[in-house]
Amino acid sequence: MKLTSIRGMHDVLPQDSGFWQLFEKTMQNIVQQYGYQEIRMPIVEKTELFKRSIGEVTDIVEKEMYTFADRNSDSLTLRPEGTASCVRAGIEHGLLHNKIQRLWYMGPMFRHERPQKGRYRQFHQIGVETFGIASADIDAELIMMSARFWQALGIDEHVSLEINSLGSSQCRQAYREKLITYFEQHLDVLDEEATHRLHLNPLRILDSKNLKMQAVIEAAPKLINELDDESKQHFDRLLTLLDSANISYKINTRLVRGLDYYSKTVFEWVTTKLGAQGTVCAGGRYDGLVKQLGAKETPAAGFAMGIERLLALVEEINPYDKIAQADIYVVVMGEKAQAYAMNVAETLRRQVPSCNILVNCGGGSAKSQFKKADQSNALYAFIIGEQEMLDNTVSIKNLKERKEQELVPKDQLCAFINQTTINPA
Ligand code: ATP
Ligand code: MG
Repeated sequence: MKLTSIRGMHDVLPQDSGFWQLFEKTMQNIVQQYGYQEIRMPIVEKTELFKRSIGEVTDIVEKEMYTFADRNSDSLTLRPEGTASCVRAGIEHGLLHNKIQRLWYMGPMFRHERPQKGRYRQFHQIGVETFGIASADIDAELIMMSARFWQALGIDEHVSLEINSLGSSQCRQAYREKLITYFEQHLDVLDEEATHRLHLNPLRILDSKNLKMQAVIEAAPKLINELDDESKQHFDRLLTLLDSANISYKINTRLVRGLDYYSKTVFEWVTTKLGAQGTVCAGGRYDGLVKQLGAKETPAAGFAMGIERLLALVEEINPYDKIAQADIYVVVMGEKAQAYAMNVAETLRRQVPSCNILVNCGGGSAKSQFKKADQSNALYAFIIGEQEMLDNTVSIKNLKERKEQELVPKDQLCAFINQTTINPA
């Protein structure tokens, strides 16, 4: 039997990894512009962590986690998201106690969902988490930063912001009772899942996609109308800051998010260009989580974006140019010239570190080597044979424009490269 990757878990192949790297670099530059620092957490955690943070009665914990017993029978789980691990690490290393932190991370997440376009079992997120700031200023900063991502990726016209407030845990508690009473009057309409959640986690019913329940959900009492003064002021301040930053939004009173730890602000960036899997970024405030995981109460807010969905959107709207494998392909004519060709390449790599040079290895006809040079998408071919070796020169052919071949002395190669587009310093 042929061995294949696990269903819903994909290789990123060489022809695509350049896009991933470019994307990652773009994102890293932006988080750094805002003064966020990277944190790297393990991919496996104790199962308990996710149960206690994400919530027992959520899609993730009820049916999506990769949980297994390791050799000492400890229950471990492949992380389904990053916030829980980030908070765990922050508490464990004293990063959160009376301190402000702006953190980000990137990496694979695992959820046992039905694989389809935009939904995988191993997928990747970039996440951002902030700690120690209770004011809506940071909610606004997070949203402004995400808006900057979309600009940098050229997709800002194709995503829109939905926003809601879940209030404080006190007003959510009161709302919860109201919601239970309301849904109890419509038991005949509730599906099995909603019935199961009615007394455990009634807010999650609002998130249901079941068409038969939509009318009843639409008419349900709205949390946004029950906010306490502080939550209301928080939400108003956020909206004012977003207005000043010229960020448009739609208030979606049904937005509750799939994780239990949120309070006050929640938001999602959605697109209509990717079919059913249209949420590319989601987040909000989670003031209760740090305490819930055993440390002193600490205000916190963050978001995570799905890299696969964003790359698919970029590909759809604004495809990246093919990324060259190298700037220069060195064509080596004859076995004797190989050492000289490699030496020329080594010298240049040292002199011009940003210049990428692919040296032909293992011989081959001129024709086959030029074909490889074209495939690499290099700008120049350096052609090196015995004559060049004897003369200490290199023949240079422009692979993108019709131009005379040039003969350049070895000690002038650095100057040659510096006046090309290879190295636009
Ligand atoms: P969805 O409603 O699409 O299931 P979610 O609410 O479960 O999303 P979050 O836990 O908020 O998602 O994760 C943040 C982002 O990570 C999502 O907006 C999405 O872009 C991405 N994401 C989540 N699950 C997957 C998955 N299985 N495959 C690919 N991307 C995903
Ligand atoms: Mg989900």
